[in-house]
Amino acid sequence: MRELHGIAASPGTACAPVFIFRDDFSWSIPSYPIAESDVDAEYARYQEAVARAKEEVTALRDKALQDAGEEQAAIFDAHLLMLDDPEVNENIKSELSSTLMNVESVVFSIERKTVESLASAQDPYIQERVSDVHDVTRRIMGHLLNRERKTLSDITSDVIVVARNLLPSDMVGMSRDRIKGIATEAGGRTSHAAILARAFGIPAVLGIGHFIGDLQTDSVAIVDGDRGVLILDPDEKALKQEKAARMLRQEKQKAFEAIRGMEASTKDGVRIQIMANIEVPEEVEAVLQYNADGIGLFRSEFLFLGGHVPGEEEQFRAYKQVVESMKGKPVTIRTLDIGGDKVLPELGAQDEKNPLLGWRAIRFCLSDTEIFKTQLRAILRASVFGDVRIMFPMISTVEELVKARGIMEEAQWECRGLGCEVKPDIKAGIMVEVPSAALCSDVLSRSADFFSIGTNDLTQYTMAVDRGNEKVAYLHDPFNPAVLRLIKMTIDNAAKANIEVGLCGEMAADPASAILLVGLGLRELSVSAVSIPAVKSVLLSTTIEEAQGVAQAVMKMTSSTQVRAYIANRFQL
Ligand code: PEP
Ligand code: MG
Repeated sequence: MRELHGIAASPGTACAPVFIFRDDFSWSIPSYPIAESDVDAEYARYQEAVARAKEEVTALRDKALQDAGEEQAAIFDAHLLMLDDPEVNENIKSELSSTLMNVESVVFSIERKTVESLASAQDPYIQERVSDVHDVTRRIMGHLLNRERKTLSDITSDVIVVARNLLPSDMVGMSRDRIKGIATEAGGRTSHAAILARAFGIPAVLGIGHFIGDLQTDSVAIVDGDRGVLILDPDEKALKQEKAARMLRQEKQKAFEAIRGMEASTKDGVRIQIMANIEVPEEVEAVLQYNADGIGLFRSEFLFLGGHVPGEEEQFRAYKQVVESMKGKPVTIRTLDIGGDKVLPELGAQDEKNPLLGWRAIRFCLSDTEIFKTQLRAILRASVFGDVRIMFPMISTVEELVKARGIMEEAQWECRGLGCEVKPDIKAGIMVEVPSAALCSDVLSRSADFFSIGTNDLTQYTMAVDRGNEKVAYLHDPFNPAVLRLIKMTIDNAAKANIEVGLCGEMAADPASAILLVGLGLRELSVSAVSIPAVKSVLLSTTIEEAQGVAQAVMKMTSSTQVRAYIANRFQL
């Protein structure tokens, strides 16, 4: 038995055999010239890889048919048709002859061209084929490179996924009911892998550091997401303890049931809105189950991370579905926040030297206004089905906000021109997640209808610390006085301007932080649905005076160590 320590990223415990996931993007595609006499041999390698891919897909199709039915199986039928496509095979052969490059590089370049032409199509059905092309190509490439190729959606038995790192795009389509736990070498508490693990209710320990190299493929592991521990090949005692912890958690969930129907407020009746953060429309079920006051953050970019760029109709359908399910409760849709760790090769936002400081979020949208406007039209059209708000991510200057609002107005006119109804007075607010925005929140409050403080990024940029880098995770601490001052400044400026302000970073999901934030004047918190009961429960047992006392004491402190010690003592943590 071996115990490894990392960051407790998503609560709960689980025990299962490990599944070592090596992500496809780390494959380097060899590229080298070949002699004319090698063309036939290269083509034969291609045919061999295709034949093996077909065997694999046929097995997957049969399994899908047995487990999930015709509809799921049809996906693999489409892949089989692609593998048999004579036009593609002809294309590969002629490219091999004309370019005299190795087959991997030819396959890669043909995939690129196909994806580009599909992605620019107007028809959403055609656009959706992009993910199929990716899938089929990676399968072929895996055989050409002699690598076993599996994605997290291929998993069919209970496992603990172990990986160097998990990208949001790896996680969106994964088999959520089969993946019992996650353990990664990289990542931090607010990395998107952690956020998704919490949203999907999967226990996770991230940022463990190097350990996969010497891992046996037949190992069993326990993920303890409460303590941040991964136990490899556990002994009897550890197995018993894990089982007991799981039972205790189930008991706790039952206790939370009692407050499900109650409105969230402090003990003395000050109403606090507890909203939910979601990444994909399917999460709405949990949002309703936990009785959230609305959706405070819909990370719309996850619709784009499934392997293709959704068109206006597809986006409209997704937003409408979420808005209608919320039955008049507010839904704040954040416009596309790609870049950073949310890489989208189809949109060109890749290969940046410094992605976290680069072409991300609103910066990307303001430079590709067609994608931005398409999204805005889809949101505006969905706005008539409920209480929709639009939120711009990563605003750093007032000029960006003014420009974004201008494009939103153009999109409104375009919708009306096409005869689509849109809400006339739709609210448009911003994420305050860059220090410049917090420092100039008085200025921004004149052009924004509301603020939502994003402490994940606000901490990252204030402390100059990559939120996904385990080596510097100790610096990513929202209790640092520098971050707390920016939060307070933003709340105060919003109050002066009389606009709404909430907080949607992971900090809000921590019960002790929730008290502090309410004490600082916040009346809206947005957290992943599973975190709602714990936050609600602590607020129901705290008066506003107590919360204000905590805030006053904390704001006088000089370090996060001091704040943490005070909180641990005050709340017996
Ligand atoms: C944040 O930065 O706090 C936030 C909520 O946005 P994201 O985690 O998606 O960057
Ligand atoms: Mg952010």
